[in-house]
Amino acid sequence: LTPGKPLTPGELLALDRRHVWHPYGPMPGRRDPLIVESAAGVRLRLAEPAEGRRELVDGMSSWWSAVHGYNHPVLNDAARGQLDRMSHVMFGGLTHEPAVRLAARLVEITPEPLEHVFLADSGSVSVEVAVKMCLQYWRSLGRPDKRRLLTWRGGYHGDTWQPMAVCDPDGGMHHLWSGLLPRQLFADAPPPGVDALPDPAYEAHLRDLIARHAHELAAVIVEPVVQGAGGMRFHSPGLLRVLREACDEHDVLLIFDEIATGFGRTGELFAAGHAGVSPDVMCLGKALTGGYMTLAATLCTPRVADGISRGELPVLAHGPTFMGNPLATAVALASIDLLLGHDWRQEIKRIEAGLRDGLAATAELPGVRDVRVLGAIGVVQLDHALDEAGMAAATRAAVREGVWLRPFRDLLYTMPPYITSDDDVARICTALHAAARAG
Ligand code: PLP
Repeated sequence: LTPGKPLTPGELLALDRRHVWHPYGPMPGRRDPLIVESAAGVRLRLAEPAEGRRELVDGMSSWWSAVHGYNHPVLNDAARGQLDRMSHVMFGGLTHEPAVRLAARLVEITPEPLEHVFLADSGSVSVEVAVKMCLQYWRSLGRPDKRRLLTWRGGYHGDTWQPMAVCDPDGGMHHLWSGLLPRQLFADAPPPGVDALPDPAYEAHLRDLIARHAHELAAVIVEPVVQGAGGMRFHSPGLLRVLREACDEHDVLLIFDEIATGFGRTGELFAAGHAGVSPDVMCLGKALTGGYMTLAATLCTPRVADGISRGELPVLAHGPTFMGNPLATAVALASIDLLLGHDWRQEIKRIEAGLRDGLAATAELPGVRDVRVLGAIGVVQLDHALDEAGMAAATRAAVREGVWLRPFRDLLYTMPPYITSDDDVARICTALHAAARAG
């Protein structure tokens, strides 16, 4: 490696294959990733053409985070301005304005009575912190037996230890660890259908599980309204009310993981808003910084914080090196202001309408089991799981249409940036259609 001399694409891929782990990837790498040279607006610019395309519309918003698109002048200014002042400082014993303002802003925009904010450094860590808060709460109140979690099947909460224990135990990626992870409780997956009132039999199933296990349950944790990486399933918001009531009745805490759904993705600022329900603990991440930097947040109510402060260890025992990073918190503030500074609901409705129109024909394709749309989320579910070759073929078909998608299992889907134009939404739909035919 010669310092300062750029790598050729061939050199870069050879080094990548040999040294760099990619998400859920083998080592050494088997499939060459596309090399992204730069990104602006909704477009990724590749170092070399792929399937005849040098630019791709990002139908994934970088795993659902880049809601304002790339290289946004407002977010760039926020990062640059903060960089000139201070890029990082430890958060133990010190504080700074971007973190304090962000915490206050998050409390302002999330449902009451969430009031306290732990600034974590990734979504998975924010879930770890949420779980720790709940376990420590019950321990502090002298009820250490309340240490299990209940969730429903089909969920995904991250790749670190506690989150893995509440991911889908069957369809998920973490079954390898099932004997080692803390043994949690699983309700059946919620019945599909976002408009439907909760199914009475399913509601009874949830209430019964919570009632029977309340003595050992610290918390219920769910992704509200949309289960993302576990299967892109939508469910009735009414179920959130059922959980809230049952948790209140049986003295169990309720965690909403809004890492994927937060900041407008489903058409409400937070998916809990579809039901008007507030959790005891809420996790945020991904779009928090508009996808610019790694930052997440765990919010909790005064009840939870007060409980912890009454314990034998009256502090929350967690403190990452990069907690409250000034760059990330400054950009998060700018991203929230950018989102709320215009009619974001209209923007999401526009994308939703474009996805509904654009995917109508795909629902008729042979091999397509279901097409569903909610907010800026469009999902095409096949009637078969894609193997590696099928996923590669589907990805290539989308790239040929000038769109970046990442199929998984039986799912082709898009969660585009909110600034995606009508033409580009239509292009994404064409790519999903092509991918469905190719897979
Ligand atoms: N929770 C949900 C609902 C998610 O969708 C994800 C990531 O996809 C996570 C947690 C984990 O977040 P991260 O990848 O930032 O650790």
